[in-house]
Amino acid sequence: MNKAIKGIARVTLDFILEVSKSTYPKEFAGLLQANNGIITDILILPGTESSEINAVLQLFMLPNMSAVGSVHSHPSSVIRPSKADLRLFSKTGNHHIIVGHPFGPDNWKCYSGNGEEISLPVLDVEIEDDELV
Ligand code: ZN
Repeated sequence: MNKAIKGIARVTLDFILEVSKSTYPKEFAGLLQANNGIITDILILPGTESSEINAVLQLFMLPNMSAVGSVHSHPSSVIRPSKADLRLFSKTGNHHIIVGHPFGPDNWKCYSGNGEEISLPVLDVEIEDDELV
């Protein structure tokens, strides 16, 4: 399965940054879902404040969950993946976003499934409601 991801919708990235801000100093985690090769949907994981990584892992094991990757926030300004993050990244998907405090437009990076930094274009696209999962 090699569905090429062209980028992330700007509104979706803005949403991620907003949620990260409002969740701070707790962490926030979610799964990324894409429409037509563009990441447009975030499935926020409930109760992620205590053990985000475990919660994400549990969701990855749900059979009907088609995620292209994950997103989570770091309360610090360090946006490098931790060892636990790398284990998570290798489980599924090839686009893993980490956002770091203070959650500005440049306080995020995207990593591949093997933990290499990759570029993820931010796209100005209209998202129609009926395309949302
Ligand atoms: Zn992390």
